[in-house]
Amino acid sequence: MSTRVLTDFDLVLPGSLSEALDILAQNGSAVTVVAGGTDILVAMKAGFKADMVMSLTALPDLDYLDYDASSGLRIGANASIAQVVDSADVERHYPALWQAAKIFATPQLRNTATVVGNLLRGSPAGDCCAAVAALGGSLTMASAGSTRELDIDDLWVAYGTTARADNELAVELKIPAPAAGRVSAFKRLTRVNEDLAKLNVAVSLQMDGSTCSDVRLAMGCVAPTMIRLPSAEAVLEGSELNSETLEKAAAAVQEDISPIDDQRSTAEYRRGVAGVYLKRAVEQACSIA
Ligand SMILES: Cc1cc2nc3c(=O)[nH]c(=O)nc-3n(C[C@H](O)[C@H](O)[C@H](O)COP(=O)(O)OP(=O)(O)OC[C@H]3O[C@@H](n4cnc5c(N)ncnc54)[C@H](O)[C@@H]3O)c2cc1C
Repeated sequence: MSTRVLTDFDLVLPGSLSEALDILAQNGSAVTVVAGGTDILVAMKAGFKADMVMSLTALPDLDYLDYDASSGLRIGANASIAQVVDSADVERHYPALWQAAKIFATPQLRNTATVVGNLLRGSPAGDCCAAVAALGGSLTMASAGSTRELDIDDLWVAYGTTARADNELAVELKIPAPAAGRVSAFKRLTRVNEDLAKLNVAVSLQMDGSTCSDVRLAMGCVAPTMIRLPSAEAVLEGSELNSETLEKAAAAVQEDISPIDDQRSTAEYRRGVAGVYLKRAVEQACSIA
């Protein structure tokens, strides 16, 4: 049932990370974590029942975005999409993520929504999800008394479901520093900018002249989760990038995707545009006109 009125819930506002982790340790799956709230409040208005809502807004020191040339990019759990757009380091070194943030929704949404929340929502349409899946990286998952690094390739396990345990909080996203010659790009197809994607794609490749290696291609809205494109990656890996290999990679995408009809598009249309968008993203990353 859809409703515009939120049902009653208890709001907890931990003032420290250890307090937040204790709340999760004691209450586990009964706790609904809220960062920017731009996904979860929509879900609650649509009927998702949350009894205990734990907001991260009062947690100090988690709204950072730091770049270091040797260790790479670190994005705290409370860092917003707008902070990504404002970062010259992200624009220069991680174009796929910057481009995904730049076209994200509206200024109000970008000021409120977090990058980590985008990943933890587990939507196959997440724009930062596509970018981070292509760039590679890991999430630091903290629980009372321990932390672990969760590789982005292992994060999404089913539609809307992640590998996060009930007692864990994602505290930081890490993306490695790009080697010289690393290129990346993001592209998205929507009806209007405020809409979620009909299809999105992000690519990241190591270029040595015109030869590609360490190819990472990610596509959204074509499977229950954000996915890598192993068949298309295999075509490009170690290959000379030219119109023939690009066409082959675009054709290979069909083996990797399993799109469905939904309110934003049809499976047939998604199959029709998937290869085209992959090709355009690689061309954009490699500045091929
Ligand atoms: C009008 C509108 C337009 C939108 N446009 C776009 C768009 O263009 N592109 C796009 O990708 N998305 C879009 N979204 C979806 C949403 O804004 C994004 O997914 C956003 O990044 C979610 O971040 P948040 O901080 O608001 O997450 P929240 O809603 O606070 O949380 C999302 C999920 O992640 C979990 N979570 C959040 N932080 C943590 C954490 N640190 N540890 C563990 N779990 C956590 C929450 O429990 C929840 O399940 C749009 C939403 C709306 C309402």
